[in-house]
Amino acid sequence: MTRRNPIEDLALLRHEFGEHGGVNMSIEASSTFTVMDPHTMPEMFQGRKGPENAGCYLYGRHFNPTVYNLSRQLAALEGTESAYCTASGMGAISATLMALCGHGDHIVSSNTVYGGSYALMHYFLPATAGVTTCFVNISDLDAVRAAITDDTRVLYVESVANPTLRVADIPRLAEIADDAGITLVVDNTFSPLILSPAALGADVVVHSMTKFISGMSDIIAGAVCGSHAFIEQLMDLHSGPLMLLGPTMDPKTAAELSLRIPHLPLRMVAHGERALALAERLEAVGVDVCYPGLAGHPDRALLDRLRCPDYGYGGVLTIDLGEEERADKLMALLQNKYCFGFMAVSLGYFDTLMSCSGASTSSEMSDGDKAAAGIGPGLVRMSIGYTGTLEQRWGQLEAALRDIGCFAAYSRAG
Ligand code: PLP
Repeated sequence: MTRRNPIEDLALLRHEFGEHGGVNMSIEASSTFTVMDPHTMPEMFQGRKGPENAGCYLYGRHFNPTVYNLSRQLAALEGTESAYCTASGMGAISATLMALCGHGDHIVSSNTVYGGSYALMHYFLPATAGVTTCFVNISDLDAVRAAITDDTRVLYVESVANPTLRVADIPRLAEIADDAGITLVVDNTFSPLILSPAALGADVVVHSMTKFISGMSDIIAGAVCGSHAFIEQLMDLHSGPLMLLGPTMDPKTAAELSLRIPHLPLRMVAHGERALALAERLEAVGVDVCYPGLAGHPDRALLDRLRCPDYGYGGVLTIDLGEEERADKLMALLQNKYCFGFMAVSLGYFDTLMSCSGASTSSEMSDGDKAAAGIGPGLVRMSIGYTGTLEQRWGQLEAALRDIGCFAAYSRAG
C-alpha cells in the first residue's frame, strides 16, 4: 500500500522567487498579458502556446502565473501531474463534473457528501445538464457496483465524508471505477496530507481550500488536481468549464494561499492531536462521539492502512445529542458562556467551529436521505481548533455538557 508523504514532493518543488529576488513570489496582478509579436496571440488561441509551452499567458480567466504557481503546489500536495485553482470548492466540483458528464450521463455518488455537492448532483445537474445521480452507501462495495449503469461516467466520493466521517476505501473504489471504465473523483477537503487519493487510485482530486488549506476562514477557494490532459480539458477555450463558466481564482488570493501551504503540515498535526484528545475524553465520559481516530470507529483500520501516519486522523469530530434542540443548547453554551468555539459552518479554522449538520450544511438533503446516511437531527459537527490549552478546552466542553445534563443522560459510569 502506498503511504506517500506529500511534504517530500512539496519540498522538491521549484521555488518561485519574487521579481526582485524576494523569497516570496511576486503577485502577477494583471488580467491580461502582452505579446511582443502579433503572431503569438493566434497561436495561444489555437492552443499551440501556453504557460507550459513558451511560458505564454493570455488572459486572467485562462491561466495566471501566480495562480499557476499555487496550482503547482496543489499538484505536489496531491501527487498529480497537474492542478488548477478555482474561486471556490464548488467551482472546482461543478467544473469537474460538467467536464466529465454530458446530457444523458450518470454519476454514482456517495450518499454522504457536503450538502452543496449533494444539491449540485440531486437538483442542479439533472435540471440544467440532463445529468442524473444515484446516491449509494460507498462502504457497501456491492451496492456501488450495482449502481453503475452503461451511462455512468463518474464515481464521486469524499475521502472522509462530511459530516459522517466515514472513510472511502479509495483503492477498492478505484478498482471498481477502472473495471467500469469510469472516472473516480475524490473530494479530499477533510484530509489534506493525511490521504493522497491519487496515489491510492483516484483519477481526479478536488478541494475546498476554504477549509484546512486556508486555515483562517478568510478565503473562499478550491482546486482540481489531475492529469495534464484533464486540466487542459477544463481550461479549453471552446469547451472547458473552468474557462467558460469562469470560477477564476484571483492572483492575490493565490499568493496568500501559497504562503499557507508550508505550514499546513504543522496545522494538520495540531488539529489532529487536539481532536483525538477531546474525542478520547468524550468517549471516556460516555458521550456519543464519532472520530476516525477512535479505536471503535468503523473505518479506523481502513484509515490506518491508507493514511500517511505523520498527520493524525483529522480535525473533525461529531457528537450526537439525539435532538436538534439539545444540540443547539450545547452550541450556544459553548460559544456564549464558555468561549469554546463558534457556532459557524465551515472547518479547518484555528479556533473550533460548530454546526448542527442536519439543519445547516446537510439541510439540502431530504429527511429520508439524511436518515439513510446516518445524519441525525442532533448531530453536532465540530472542527476542532488548536488555540488555548487542551485542559482549558476540555474544561469548557465538559462544563457545557454538564449544563445540558449530558452526563445524567449519557454517562456509562452513572
Ligand atoms: N467539499 C466539502 C467536503 C465541503 O465541506 C465544502 C464546503 O463546506 C465544499 C466542498 C464546498 O467548498 P466551498 O465552500 O469552498 O465552495
